[in-house]
Amino acid sequence: MKTINCPHCHARVPHGATVCRGCKAEFEYGAPGFPTFLLWVIALAVSIAIPGWLSKFSFFSTGFLWGTGFVIFSCLIGWGSGWIDKLYRDRVVSHRFYRYKVDHPTRESREVTSRSN
Ligand SMILES: [Zn+2]
Repeated sequence: MKTINCPHCHARVPHGATVCRGCKAEFEYGAPGFPTFLLWVIALAVSIAIPGWLSKFSFFSTGFLWGTGFVIFSCLIGWGSGWIDKLYRDRVVSHRFYRYKVDHPTRESREVTSRSN
């Protein structure tokens, strides 16, 4: 069974658990928001740029250009999200909230190292 080490209290928690048994830190699995956001921006830019470039040739209809843009966009999103999932498959981040600091609650996030045994 795969376990992860809680980076806050060093308890061993089964992989897939969302809360640490020891210190109640929260675990987050999978890709962070930023690469996904970046993927959408790049996909959008490319799917606008290529039909934009193709529109210089008058023999392409507007419908064809929209279609091309849409196909490029869905291909990039499909391919990119698969790639991001693969890249971050083993990523776990844990967040622990220091609730005792009432005035300035701090949130501490640490990467978790997972291991199989
Ligand atoms: Zn813990």
